[in-house]
Amino acid sequence: MRAVVVGAGIGGLSTALLLQKKGLEVTVLEKLDVPGGRARGFSDAVYSFDMGPSWYLMPEVFQRFYRELGEGTPEVKEVDPLFSLYVGDMGKEGTSRTFWKDEYPVRGDLEGYLQDTEFMYKMAMERFLFKEMRVYDFLDPTIIKNLGRFPLFTSLDSFNRRYFSEDFSLKSLGFSSVFLGGSPFNTPAIYAMVNYAILGGGVYYPKGGFQGLVNRLYDLCKRAGVEFRFNEEVNKVEVRDKVVAVWGRERVEGDVFVFNMDYERADSMLPYDYSLGESYWKKKKLSPSAVLGYLGVEGEVKVPHHSIFVNGDWRYHFDSITKGNEPDLENLSYYVSYRKASDDSLRGQDLVFLIPVSAGLESLNLKKYIDAVVSDFKAKTGSKFTIKYERMYGPSDFKRDYNAFKGTAFGISHTLDQTGPFRLPMRHRKLDNLFFVGQYTQPGIGVPMVTISSMLVSEKVLGSLRK
Ligand SMILES: Cc1cc2nc3c(=O)[nH]c(=O)nc-3n(C[C@H](O)[C@H](O)[C@H](O)COP(=O)(O)OP(=O)(O)OC[C@H]3O[C@@H](n4cnc5c(N)ncnc54)[C@H](O)[C@@H]3O)c2cc1C
Repeated sequence: MRAVVVGAGIGGLSTALLLQKKGLEVTVLEKLDVPGGRARGFSDAVYSFDMGPSWYLMPEVFQRFYRELGEGTPEVKEVDPLFSLYVGDMGKEGTSRTFWKDEYPVRGDLEGYLQDTEFMYKMAMERFLFKEMRVYDFLDPTIIKNLGRFPLFTSLDSFNRRYFSEDFSLKSLGFSSVFLGGSPFNTPAIYAMVNYAILGGGVYYPKGGFQGLVNRLYDLCKRAGVEFRFNEEVNKVEVRDKVVAVWGRERVEGDVFVFNMDYERADSMLPYDYSLGESYWKKKKLSPSAVLGYLGVEGEVKVPHHSIFVNGDWRYHFDSITKGNEPDLENLSYYVSYRKASDDSLRGQDLVFLIPVSAGLESLNLKKYIDAVVSDFKAKTGSKFTIKYERMYGPSDFKRDYNAFKGTAFGISHTLDQTGPFRLPMRHRKLDNLFFVGQYTQPGIGVPMVTISSMLVSEKVLGSLRK
């Protein structure tokens, strides 16, 4: 039996490995010339960068995935301090606090918060994340009995306010919504479990960064016998009762097809009767895109691995994302990754600046925003460095490289109506041999979630072939 996987992101690679190890002949077709998708990396002579993910969370997910494959878990190192948060006005010194695993400087009921978010996290891990949820799963008796502790209809921000009132504390517990492609004001409170994942579970750094993680996954695929074809963009799907072939540079046949490429583009290639259609996609709530600055620097950088900066009115920044407006230079919130703080083996000092911006802003002046946050970063941290290497990346790059709908960085957001059973289906509703894997499907955005989605989809594929 031959499986064709379209896309070599984390979702495509993990699915290919699982299916090949379980006896299928797998071919992966990838548009770009390297594996990893949004989690890929790049290097110049001195500097190397992880282009996307930098927070390795929920290590137990990876343990479970690699155990199922009979392979060792990737080598990781604990990151502590977890992160620093800076709050103030653009371009000026602000106030900052550093958050450690055993010292979380918030003011309020931290103990109560940890207890309740641990409950959510454990419920999710034990009952919901490792299966394809159905609507009736929300009627689980434990959820109904504990609705106050597993709040579905409240926002993350409102939930956090039950335990904290101090602005700084609320910001430190609200920014995790950005990982889920949303804001603290529109992300359901159940995702406070991500805060537990950080505080209770810890933050890690994989050996060689996320590029190292991708390379290992790719090597395991090759050793298992998966065939890879790079620079092979699929642009046509041939359907006769079921999918019989996809077209890149040539026609590729298979018994079963798993699309890891962006869902909207995949859907748009299906014949009219099988496609969800343009009006469906117009209604979807997209997660933000991002303006990224990959900077190789020389000098003194005075931050830990992860830092978050909130300037001016952060609700204003989040509102601009929801409304599709250009970000305002006075109200920019952003994140900076500095891997050298955790990884001595790196030759250069690489700084990655990430500003979440609305999807659809394809002609933004990226440099203007990166220059502004670099000045702000220097003012707030007292870092003194010169920039030796610079690359910008923005919404139009996400669109060009990954076929991302409106240049979204994370796919569809995790609003309540796009959570669990309301995310996009993993199996096509009419075509029995067509499946989807990755951040658009259940359980959602992020490397651990996409890894879970590969486990779920592989079970479905194998189940469909056994029938
Ligand atoms: C800037 C950024 C920071 C992030 N930070 C974190 C973090 O700290 N921690 C975390 O856990 N997650 C993070 N994430 C999220 C995480 O990286 C993603 O959720 C995950 O990598 C998505 O994987 P995927 O397999 O679903 O999709 P993708 O990575 O998008 O893979 C899809 C693949 O399909 C290919 N493709 C597209 N069209 C075609 C076609 N027509 N034919 C063939 N191939 C095609 C693409 O080139 C791509 O390789 C971040 C994401 C971004 C963008």
